[in-house]
Amino acid sequence: MIPFLDLRRQHAILRGELMATVARVLDASQFILGAEGQALERELATVCGVRHAIGVGSGTDALRLALAALGLGPGDEVITPAFSFVASSSTIVMAGAVPVFVDVDPETYNLDPDLIERAITPRTRAVLPVHLYGHPAPMDRIAALARAHGLLVIEDAAQAVGATYDGRPVGAWGDAACLSFYPTKNLGACGDGGMVVTDRDEVAERIRRLRHHGDHGRYHHVELGWCSRLDELQAAALRVKLPHLAAWTEARRRIAARYRTLLAGAPLGLPVERSRARHVYHLFTVRHPRRDAFVKSLADLGVGSAVHYPLPVPGQPMFGADERRWPEASRAAREVVSLPCYAELTDEEVEEVARAARLAAERC
Ligand SMILES: *Cc1c(COP(=O)(O)O)cnc(C)c1O
Repeated sequence: MIPFLDLRRQHAILRGELMATVARVLDASQFILGAEGQALERELATVCGVRHAIGVGSGTDALRLALAALGLGPGDEVITPAFSFVASSSTIVMAGAVPVFVDVDPETYNLDPDLIERAITPRTRAVLPVHLYGHPAPMDRIAALARAHGLLVIEDAAQAVGATYDGRPVGAWGDAACLSFYPTKNLGACGDGGMVVTDRDEVAERIRRLRHHGDHGRYHHVELGWCSRLDELQAAALRVKLPHLAAWTEARRRIAARYRTLLAGAPLGLPVERSRARHVYHLFTVRHPRRDAFVKSLADLGVGSAVHYPLPVPGQPMFGADERRWPEASRAAREVVSLPCYAELTDEEVEEVARAARLAAERC
């Protein structure tokens, strides 16, 4: 069986370094808001090409804190894709604002910029694009629309650290952007973690306050805040991994290129990489009109896979909207399935996955 993802492989390689790092943090015994977190913040600000990065408890909290720090709340509408992980929309609801779902481009699964303009109303305050699967959203178009209509931009870069659009990193386009260090993400912690990156000084300062009880210096609480910090053990583990991120991304891109060659002509929809985008292949997601049969056939051939996501966001029971209003998101939810794509896959495994995928696609 070739697993869809096997994190044990990465951790077996890094075990010595990770254990030494855990020992170092235990010796220092400063677990919250210490040197490791500060160093990681500087390092990721550089990766994202911005001046500030603020470590927080999760990618979800990064979105919540960014929305709060930018002042979004009741009465505000936020435009966001109808096809994503639920957190890109649930956090808008948590802020008290209203997610306005826009359909996606069927080739990249990103927000379709042609549909954004007609979703804008007098209450629209922000656009929240998601760089889904690691493919950057068309940020030039989104930034231009935001400028023209005076909207804020919050990037959900949870799946796309290291990706670029027009050579500019994701995270550097918006008023703020959110990273997730959930263990299965391209840069994953050994637990939960997240980060907000921003070039705006006052936004960064407010997020630093909000993540720590609204504290403006020892026990002076100037506003209602959260308790959501990235802890030192996670930050230290992430600092062991970050130097490998570029090579892991290259490995993912090589695997994607290999799949493309090996699957050429197979009855499967392959992911698209737009010419101005640099995809980091958090997921290598194909589509097949009889997806569930394809998944079963793949499993019978010994290949693990996963469906991201089986429902469009507004069709989730918690939103309960009629999903036919977002036809591409609905069709994607019925057809997509992700194949194994991680740096530790061997060449033989990549060939085996492709062989099985072609066979399964032809059978179904
Ligand atoms: C993972 C993810 C999140 C949430 O991150 P957590 O760290 O799991 O809270 C948000 N948006 C997208 C698109 C994600 O993939």
